[in-house]
Amino acid sequence: MKLHCEVEVISRHLPALGLRNRGKGVRAVLSLCQQTSRSQPSARAFLLISTLKDKRGTRYELRENIEQFFTKFVDEGKATVRLKEPPVDVCLSKANSSSLKGFLSAVRLAHRGCKVDIPVSTLTPVKTSEFENFKTKMVITSKKDYPLSKNFPYSLEHLQTSYCGLVRVDMRMLCLKNLRKLDLSHNHIKKLPATIGDLVHLQELNLNDNHLESFSVALCQSTLQKSLRTLDLSKNKIKALPVQFCQLQELTNLKLDDNELIQFPCKIGQLINLRFLSAARNKLPFLPSEFRNLSLEYLDLFGNTFEQPKVLPVIKLQAPLTLLESSARTILYNRIPYGSHIIPFHLCQDLDTAKTCVCGRFCLNSFIQGTTTMNLHSVAHTVVLVDNMGGTEAPIVSHFCSLGCYVNSSDMLK
Ligand SMILES: [Zn+2]
Repeated sequence: MKLHCEVEVISRHLPALGLRNRGKGVRAVLSLCQQTSRSQPSARAFLLISTLKDKRGTRYELRENIEQFFTKFVDEGKATVRLKEPPVDVCLSKANSSSLKGFLSAVRLAHRGCKVDIPVSTLTPVKTSEFENFKTKMVITSKKDYPLSKNFPYSLEHLQTSYCGLVRVDMRMLCLKNLRKLDLSHNHIKKLPATIGDLVHLQELNLNDNHLESFSVALCQSTLQKSLRTLDLSKNKIKALPVQFCQLQELTNLKLDDNELIQFPCKIGQLINLRFLSAARNKLPFLPSEFRNLSLEYLDLFGNTFEQPKVLPVIKLQAPLTLLESSARTILYNRIPYGSHIIPFHLCQDLDTAKTCVCGRFCLNSFIQGTTTMNLHSVAHTVVLVDNMGGTEAPIVSHFCSLGCYVNSSDMLK
């Protein structure tokens, strides 16, 4: 029985000598071995720790030699085995959690002197090829190299599979819990599974040049909210992103070029960490008012179908306000929490997409809508020209909750 993980063996004498351990594990193959000899007919059980530098490995007696197991973080692939003699702590990390659990229970049996009912290894040196399982990076750029029978090494942190003709995300990739960077560009993927959101360390996701038509709400509300920094969705068929997309608040780099976007999500201003935004060659007629709240280093909106700002505002004021309108305004203004477990789903959607007035209040269906132009340099250091005419201005929508707000801000609309 073998376990692939990172190992650090810490002597408990070190602190007494005023020394500290390195605090960093090395890649190792752990084997559970048994040895019988003529003088000792009962099998002796060993833990053999082999590393790339020391393939023969170091062995530790297991029988009645374990002082304690520390398994609080076993689900994260970490555990420590404290031995009596020598007085060391064997710290295991970056292991596949289910393999680790299996291995530890076998070690426990060996410690008690029970017979281990699984094939145990012999005390032979570990082959170099075994260490292949520790690969952290794998780049595949053609269909013929794509692994069909073999699994991806569980330790992968960076996986690229481009030009492989994938029509969906391979479920085996979703088991790679250490993945930080996943590049699936240049495939034929139509839909993303919500389970991509289970890759808790995923920082970079590249889906450039696929057949995606949407980016699901489930993904926007997954753990990607805490991890995802870079997202490339360019060259797909996306028409709109859900309003929940703006909950991916760690995003710094977003590429949406060459899609069919007809609008940005209205709360785009909530992406407070966004620094690089490109959405060239889409079908954006204008920008949402929250676009003003962005603070970018780079912005590319070249080749969109921006409309001329309308001279006359659209007036949709209600007098008096409907019960829906005034209660919605109250809920949003007082930040009263809501959700589909309390009120109907369509009301949540209305509240999610409420418009923000220049005064900071909110409006649902009663508002004045005006369009004006904004110089994109006011939100970004570097701006790619909007068109071939040398312009850096784009139309932006403004909403006003009342006639008073409209009149007060009419300077803005000149
Ligand atoms: Zn207002």
